[in-house]
Amino acid sequence: QQYVFRFGGGVSDGGKGDKNLLGGKGANLAEMASIGLPVPPGFTISTAMCTRYYDEGQSFPASVRTEVAEGLAHIERVTGKAFGDPTNPLLVSVRSGARVSMPGMMDTVLNLGLNDETVEGLARVSDDPRFAWDSYRRFIQMYADVVLELEHGRFEEALEIAKEDNGYFLDTDLTADDLKGLVAQYKALVAELWGKPFPQDVHDQLWGAVGAVFGSWQSDRAKVYRRLNDIPGDWGTAVNVQAMVFGNMGDTSATGVAFTRDPSTGEPGYYGEFLINAQGEDVVAGIRTPQYLTRAAREAAGAKPASMEEAMPEVYGELARTFDLLERHYRDMQDIEFTVEKAKLWMLQTRSGKRTAKAALKIAVDMAQEGLITEEQAVARVDAAALDQLLHPTLDPQAPRDVLTKGLPASPGAASGKVVFDADAAERAAANGEDVILVRVETSPEDIHGMHAARGILTARGGMTSHAAVVARGMGRPCVSGAGTLSIKAADKVMRVGEREVREGEIVTIDGSTGEVMVGAVATIQPELAGDFGTLMVWADRVRRLRVRANAETPADCRTAREFGAEGIGLCRTEHMFFDGSRITAVRQMILASDEAGRRAALDKLLPEQRSDFAEIFEVMAGLPCTIRLLDPPLHEFLPHEDAEFAEVAKATGIDIEKLRRRAAELHEFNPMLGHRGCRLGVTYPEIYEMQARAIFEAAVEVAEKTGEAPIPEVMIPLVATAKELKLMKAVVDKAAEAVFAEKGRRIDYLVGTMIELPRAALRAGEIAEAGAFFSFGTNDLTQTTLGVSRDDAARFLTQYVEKGIYARDPFVSIDVEGVGELVRIAAERGRATRPDIKLGICGEHGGDPASIAFCEEVGLDYVSASPYRVPIARLAAAQAAL
Ligand code: PEP
Ligand code: MG
Repeated sequence: QQYVFRFGGGVSDGGKGDKNLLGGKGANLAEMASIGLPVPPGFTISTAMCTRYYDEGQSFPASVRTEVAEGLAHIERVTGKAFGDPTNPLLVSVRSGARVSMPGMMDTVLNLGLNDETVEGLARVSDDPRFAWDSYRRFIQMYADVVLELEHGRFEEALEIAKEDNGYFLDTDLTADDLKGLVAQYKALVAELWGKPFPQDVHDQLWGAVGAVFGSWQSDRAKVYRRLNDIPGDWGTAVNVQAMVFGNMGDTSATGVAFTRDPSTGEPGYYGEFLINAQGEDVVAGIRTPQYLTRAAREAAGAKPASMEEAMPEVYGELARTFDLLERHYRDMQDIEFTVEKAKLWMLQTRSGKRTAKAALKIAVDMAQEGLITEEQAVARVDAAALDQLLHPTLDPQAPRDVLTKGLPASPGAASGKVVFDADAAERAAANGEDVILVRVETSPEDIHGMHAARGILTARGGMTSHAAVVARGMGRPCVSGAGTLSIKAADKVMRVGEREVREGEIVTIDGSTGEVMVGAVATIQPELAGDFGTLMVWADRVRRLRVRANAETPADCRTAREFGAEGIGLCRTEHMFFDGSRITAVRQMILASDEAGRRAALDKLLPEQRSDFAEIFEVMAGLPCTIRLLDPPLHEFLPHEDAEFAEVAKATGIDIEKLRRRAAELHEFNPMLGHRGCRLGVTYPEIYEMQARAIFEAAVEVAEKTGEAPIPEVMIPLVATAKELKLMKAVVDKAAEAVFAEKGRRIDYLVGTMIELPRAALRAGEIAEAGAFFSFGTNDLTQTTLGVSRDDAARFLTQYVEKGIYARDPFVSIDVEGVGELVRIAAERGRATRPDIKLGICGEHGGDPASIAFCEEVGLDYVSASPYRVPIARLAAAQAAL
């Protein structure tokens, strides 16, 4: 088996189709080389080697050592330099590169191949001893940090002291001799902290770095990142070894990063940053402030230092042509790294650029309109789950705001929350249901869990391509970065701008679209649903087969759902209506009644309230089907707890308070989820369902008369296990319907159906379909009952289950296709066998999850139902599933 794949100098062993084997970076380097772009020669050690490395106790087989030697020979041939050669040394970079980019992993070691001898050779051939010693200094520092994992701060400290001792301000003030001294200090530090001298053998250096890249695949940070992004642990990473090119060889050298379109807004136009006389990491690290790429961007920002377009017009021209070529070649927005060595352009990376949801949408629609991709490809391009970001409110431009400071608009959207100064605190507060803004000087991969927990992120340092900016965009969190006037004292839990002070726990608002940071909460407005969003939805609706409904029970939610394109209500949980205002007392009176007469008296009070709720919903959803589920949860959920609540019920009913307390105690259940709930309530207290059915039909007749358009009620019975239960309950509903129709002299078409939430119901779907005109899969309960995992207690252990790969994803979020999915398949099949035109839908949380929607398409359900804000996600996911 081949593990090493070469590229550059007219050779490409791989190409862009080999991402699984070569990782994204390696595959694209090979691709760029094969289309004739200037790529420094190198080779990729495949992800298959990473897997084997772990299988074989973290060691390398002899065959791969031979292949690496051949890879090095390839680089030597193309460059005319030799690895470890003291006269004309080859230096290489070593970088990780998984199938998808993973900021939690070891990234890069530069200048590898330098030692006490080769540094002298580099000084001679470059005719620049300062450059040579600076490269050696950087190499030791990077290697010590990334490969040996020694305390980074000690090296920084030595550098600072070296500058202070000489009265220097910038790194570039250090002379060759200063740097030579610093190298000696660094080597001593390595010996002290590592217990061994810094490796002088260049091959030891290389294998050390390769081992560190593979080792970083199983680092805690990488694992967290994989868990948050659903990346399987067995993919492994590749390693890229590539000849160094130098952006730090004087004023005709530079290094930079760029996007072919704006990754924040999606607007056309190159977008990026570069630094003259610098090495790659300098741009990302935010040590020096990068310059703009284009003149237009520089002018728009009112910045002074010349843009690359102005400073290096020729190389810039070549770069711009390369951007266009890469976009046409990949038919997507590219994220590019480049270096200019003595006025010669080198391409170091290209990949599909990470972008905000807003940019993804704009770029997909623009590219389809430019003819670069088809409308269907545009539909497939936009991550359905990420649409979420566009559907949430932004700051109301009219609302008063108390602006504290301004930073860079690093990731769009607005967020308010309490200020916290570290990632753990953010995670704790979020776990308590609090909205927080994570405030850091700058972020690092250690902060990822806190960034995920926060509503928004604010940093004092770092540019648009800083860690905070890139990660926040990926996560869809609003972010303001590089708010330079902000002075953060994390230890004292306070931040200041001039005289003003904000302490931990105080509320701030950030606007990631403008960079503004405000004290207090600022009012927001609803998102714009026309424009590109509307266009993409039209294209999506053309290709999807699944219908999309909403889970909603208030008229406001129903209205939102309709605006978002819902084609009906898939689940109206009537119990949610029982908590409103004065109703809860009537509900309590009903529950605590000791006989049917008592219950009916209470139900009579509830009837008009339910009727007006349903009437409002029917009006909002005119012409669309509305599935209304009869009472489901265990009665004790509605019980009074406080003395005052008991007193209120006692007053309303005239029943003695002690008697009420006894009755409440009687209702206690050991396992209410499997207790007296769902249709079991209807079986034991049919008058409850009778009242609800009556309310539904009275409302339907009323709306039909008022608007001239008859609603389409679908009455749904919850938690059915047997056909007999459904038949009994259907009889109750039908009887109520007939009574209402007779009284009002008008009939309404309606359906009675059931939820499928229990394995028994799924298995006996054939006979259940005799009484039920539709099935709606309640996959929340079906997951709970199939897995035997309590939906309310699962959080405590399910994360570990996901981490250990027992379930690929949280089965309450994304359907367990093999288990729960099997039951859905069986029920659909058996239901259809009895009743070929049976309507099938899903209304558990999974109805808004793109992966689960793909499964629903495969099984051929008729519709999915999701919460209103997820309706557009479901429309897009349904289209993608149909493609
Ligand atoms: C379900 O169980 O999937 C469902 C939709 O019902 P609920 O969440 O109300 O139990
Ligand atoms: Mg349920």
